[in-house]
Amino acid sequence: MTVTAQAIPMLSDNYSWLLIDSATGKTGIVDPAETRPAIAALEKLGLGLDYIFLTHHHPDHIGGVAKLVEMYHPKVVGNQADAHRLPKLDIPVHEGSLVDFGNARLRVIETPGHTLGHISYYIADGGILLPGDTLFSLGCGRLFEGSPAQMFNSIGKYGDLPDDTLVCAGHEYTSSNARFALTVEPENQALLDRARQVQILRGMGQPTLPVTLGEERATNPFIRAKDVETFARIRAAKDNS
Ligand code: ZN
Ligand code: FE
Repeated sequence: MTVTAQAIPMLSDNYSWLLIDSATGKTGIVDPAETRPAIAALEKLGLGLDYIFLTHHHPDHIGGVAKLVEMYHPKVVGNQADAHRLPKLDIPVHEGSLVDFGNARLRVIETPGHTLGHISYYIADGGILLPGDTLFSLGCGRLFEGSPAQMFNSIGKYGDLPDDTLVCAGHEYTSSNARFALTVEPENQALLDRARQVQILRGMGQPTLPVTLGEERATNPFIRAKDVETFARIRAAKDNS
């Protein structure tokens, strides 16, 4: 594995992700909500910061960018189409863009739904998916701007990624997602097992992420929804839960 991803907890339930290309020592941070935890993580490892990768424009994903840019002068990567509401982009990207990151590359997947300009990143070398607020463990993002059909289609775009892909999502929502998922599939044994594991991890103050895409395929009601109608119904039920 060339690229590794490490969760940096921010705010009350956000995860920013520290990416390191072990071959070259290049570093990147995904969606820094805050500055201090990012600096602490970098300083602990004695690293600078080469890139910031943004999934969408919400304040809890970009709040730390300005200060980090001032301190480390990283290149900021984000969706070209959302440039008007993102921090200043050095590398504007779109569907299918490949961003060099040391010896590895990040592939951009446009995933509208949570916001219309939301993008995800996939790193084949390391098997890492950075879905931002599109996909969570046992859940998916709220539809602030997009339609259920758009979100269903966006999550479907992860369909060709391998089962052992590590899902490095933007929030620790897994406990409440598990409670809701169990109302959808109360007898799903994989989900029951995951819910118990999540309870133990959170009890110890540990993150429930990353989780594999294979595990999510067995447990996440939003991935398991067979059609848009089912997806829309589950999303509406979660909004009202
Ligand atoms: Zn968001
Ligand atoms: Fe968020």
